[in-house]
Amino acid sequence: MLDKAHIAPTEPRRIVFPAVVDRDGRPSRVVCTPHPVERAPSPKSCRVVAVMGTRPEEIKLALVILDLRRQYPEFETAVVHTGQHRAILDHFKIKPDFDLDVMRPNQTLSTLTCRVVDTVENACRRFKPNIVLVQGDTTTAFGAALAAYYCKISVGHIEAGLRSHDIYSPFPEEVNRRLVSVITEIHFAPTAFSRDALLAEGVPAAKIVVTGNTVVDALQSLSHLPHSWENTPLADIPMDDSRLVLVTSHRRESWGRDQENMCLALKDLVRRHSDIRVIYPVHMNPSVRSTIHALLSGIDRIHLTEPLDYITFISLLRRCFLVLTDSGGIQEEAPTFHKPVLVLRTVTERPEASQFGMAKIIGMSREGILCEAERLLTDTKEYKQMSEGENPFGDGRASERIVETMSRWHLGKTPLLDPDKEFNPCPKPRVLPRKVDACAVAPEGILEKVHS
Ligand code: UDP
Repeated sequence: MLDKAHIAPTEPRRIVFPAVVDRDGRPSRVVCTPHPVERAPSPKSCRVVAVMGTRPEEIKLALVILDLRRQYPEFETAVVHTGQHRAILDHFKIKPDFDLDVMRPNQTLSTLTCRVVDTVENACRRFKPNIVLVQGDTTTAFGAALAAYYCKISVGHIEAGLRSHDIYSPFPEEVNRRLVSVITEIHFAPTAFSRDALLAEGVPAAKIVVTGNTVVDALQSLSHLPHSWENTPLADIPMDDSRLVLVTSHRRESWGRDQENMCLALKDLVRRHSDIRVIYPVHMNPSVRSTIHALLSGIDRIHLTEPLDYITFISLLRRCFLVLTDSGGIQEEAPTFHKPVLVLRTVTERPEASQFGMAKIIGMSREGILCEAERLLTDTKEYKQMSEGENPFGDGRASERIVETMSRWHLGKTPLLDPDKEFNPCPKPRVLPRKVDACAVAPEGILEKVHS
């Protein structure tokens, strides 16, 4: 089974595989912890490979991995990491079993996809899983699903069925996610909305389970931790009575003109409201950083920081007054802390928050951003309405539902999960899908498209 592997004499409990050389001739780091690979799988066991490459994938997969390990002895899990940073996994004390850094500066999407397929296929051939778990819409998720398909291994897709219906927004994530669906055996749809999108594409209902989003589980498990901003990039921000406006924007579609508009709107905002501070953890991408730093550095009460570690970020989210973001994960997290979100995009694959009245999709025009942000800063009734209600994306039990489903799938039971156990947020949407707000200056028809 593990034919080419051998036990290292100096570290008897670690498996060392022969060096893998990538396309550039660089040896990949293949580190295998003892737990998943030191014995051949028993006929009753179920081997799971969980693949991740980015921060949100780590956040959203960590508790699923821990639940599989803690609650179901029949599962043997191996974690494949294709990215450079593992800060979140460290929080959860999860060590990658296959630590394969496939990221290179300025590499194209095609090169990245090839590397992911190559390395994940390699890991699959070694670990021989029964199922490969992927999360979301990244190139890692797509490449890993494709690799599993080539090896004829089933795929479980966590956060399946989100659709913007625009193949270039988000790019390339919309298409990554759709392509994964074609290959997937078990679709873990976070909400009824995403389940319906899968049904509309002809996915059999028996293969879909509505779980809630695992990001809410992660948030709930970490948000009670005591946290101070000392020794964090937020340490120098004066702690006065200012209301904090948390901003993030990194999406490829917004680079350039749109992000410049957003910067101008933020400048207008601090000029007109002396009681606010804008805190903006700036994404590491050089295209994002050059625009943001050129336009916002040195502006009074605009604080540009390095990306924050997850615990610090959650603590900022909890303390802030308002969120402006194009991030998918932050749209899902903010309702847990009852923070209104202004979505800096023209289309979203996560319309639940706006359907429930907790978010607004406002586009990237200077006037639209300024107007919508000012409305929430000055209209207490509007603010209250947008900050009430339960998180429509999850209830903190998504991982539990996912592992129960996997156990039932492994045992050949149907349905995959008792429908009464599926995620079903309550109350139902209290605000009907909205069309363009008077204020939101977005091209006509865009918001109708979001909600259609
Ligand atoms: N996040 C973080 N530090 C930051 C900014 C974001 O830990 O400085 C977290 C955030 O809480 C969310 C996730 O990273 O869970 C979102 O990542 P990102 O916006 O990069 O990706 P997306 O969700 O859009 O795929």
